[in-house]
Amino acid sequence: MRVLVFNAGSSSLKFGVFDTGPGADAETVQCFKGSFERFRDGQCSYRYCAAARDEAGEAPHPDLSAAIAAVPDVLAEWGIDGIDAIGHRIAHGGPDFSAPARLDAETLERIEALTPLAPLHNPANLEAVHMAINVWPDLPQLGVFDTAYHLTNPARATTYAVPRAWRDAGLRRYGFHGTSHKYVAERAAQEIGQPVNSLKIISVHLGNGASACAVNLGQSMDSSMGLTPLEGLVMGTRSGDVDPGAFGFLSRQLGLSIEEIETALYTESGLKALAGSSDMRDVEDRAAAGDSEAQLAINLYAYRVRKYIGAYAAAMGGLDAVVFTGGIGENSASMRRRICDGLEFMGLRLDHDLNQAVQLENRAAPQIQAYGAKVRVIVTETAEQLQIAREVARLMARAETVGMPIPVAVSARHVHLSAEAVEALFGKGYELTPGKPLRQPGNWAAQERVSVEGPKGSLERVAILGPLRKKTQIEVSRTDSFALGIDAPVRDSGQLDGTPRVRLHGPAGSIDTDGLIVAARHIHISPEDARARGLNDGDYVEVRITGPERGLTFTHTLIRVQPGAFTEMHIDTDEANAAGIQADSEGELVPGVAAEAVALGGRR
Ligand code: ADP
Repeated sequence: MRVLVFNAGSSSLKFGVFDTGPGADAETVQCFKGSFERFRDGQCSYRYCAAARDEAGEAPHPDLSAAIAAVPDVLAEWGIDGIDAIGHRIAHGGPDFSAPARLDAETLERIEALTPLAPLHNPANLEAVHMAINVWPDLPQLGVFDTAYHLTNPARATTYAVPRAWRDAGLRRYGFHGTSHKYVAERAAQEIGQPVNSLKIISVHLGNGASACAVNLGQSMDSSMGLTPLEGLVMGTRSGDVDPGAFGFLSRQLGLSIEEIETALYTESGLKALAGSSDMRDVEDRAAAGDSEAQLAINLYAYRVRKYIGAYAAAMGGLDAVVFTGGIGENSASMRRRICDGLEFMGLRLDHDLNQAVQLENRAAPQIQAYGAKVRVIVTETAEQLQIAREVARLMARAETVGMPIPVAVSARHVHLSAEAVEALFGKGYELTPGKPLRQPGNWAAQERVSVEGPKGSLERVAILGPLRKKTQIEVSRTDSFALGIDAPVRDSGQLDGTPRVRLHGPAGSIDTDGLIVAARHIHISPEDARARGLNDGDYVEVRITGPERGLTFTHTLIRVQPGAFTEMHIDTDEANAAGIQADSEGELVPGVAAEAVALGGRR
């Protein structure tokens, strides 16, 4: 599939053409790259590259719409044809857009309504979409949202402690750069050679805008940008964290209006305010020449990033890798060193020679940690447009399977036991008695039961599912976790690192064990079925359940491909009750978005 991707700003347009192979994991190759810069100043410049050809010059385009209207001729001249779909980067998707979406009239209206959340970014994105619909009326247009990746953040990370009425009006943390963080976290996991959902990664994107993201077991868990892209790290012209008390102080002391303060925080702050230039290369050169303001700017910039790395390692309860990306993260060895120096106590130590020698051609992701260091440090170029092309291709493949039925099974609370746990609970040498076989081949419910005890209460006669596992795992619903009085995290099966402890009682004894989780909803599927539906292991899909009384669309449902699997979605009893499902039922895959379901999977 050939995808044209637009990344539109108020004074620049970047675009690219990508060929995505069959299947979502196939390699995506960029076959054309173009940009128009600075139409605002009346002196628009262009740059086009493909294979061995690279051209730059002046273009007559006065604005974004004119620039987009010029794209078909540019592509024709460069021999690029056969576009199948168009992907647009959309800055703010609000709480609704947890996945890429087809940009039809209804979706565009909903994005339009989000403009107050991103007054600088969304209008340009929307202008590009409307113009692209005019120019390519027959092609599907899809939006990929910078905020979508962070909609998995738990409420404790997204909530500001402010009056209810403000929160009801939409004041919450969103996070941005999601497409970049997702791409680099997955690229780092690939380099490490482990699935991203087994790793704790901090992605540090340092470009003109800058943000850090805690990627906990494959999902964004927190991000340094908030309601707007102002919060968090020091940026080129944006302040990052500032005490909100500054508004009152500046209004009283300097007589500034809200608009004046806001504009200054976006455009007159950051490196520009501290050192007179928003360009890190200038700031570094000046600092090296002895300019004390530039030296402070660099120290403050690095210090802020280091604080976030420490905070996110604590938030995730561990750290496997830090990934640097963005113009500064990719190119400034001295900034990477400043950020990492002093983090040896948490197992993060650079190899200074490797740090100096970073080469990033051909999507390389070199590891630059010192030999034997516990935490890996990786540098890689971000590729937001490529990631957008991938997501567009996936959504298109999935669109073909929309409406295909998925059987839904309700998992009541149960435990999986290790061999040691069986002996401790039922006696030495005891073997469980397999009872009813389950639909997943080889799995059964045992005739024996256990009880689960927490500080607040107990769950009696809890089912045991076989066969035995290496580690004991206790799967309960959110309601059960309150009954027990323990805050159980939403986890994929087997991801038990750092999970809370609970007491199990059997007829022959009791044990205290970790492994208490609320199982993340998922779909078991065989490789053959997955291929037919354009799905890959680790994908997330949305499933609509229609019922006579309730019905619900479940977002963020994990695909687990296993040879021989019986295709079936597993949800817990809370989810089943919310959707009004009595016993076995059916859902259907849907491509789009679902506002209300985002919070359901989130840990509060
Ligand atoms: P954007 O966020 O607009 O995509 P980039 O990711 O291109 O921006 O990052 C731009 C920043 O990267 C600028 O501050 C620039 O000075 C910085 N940068 C680029 N190359 C280097 C370098 N070799 N050393 C230090 N900083 C660099």
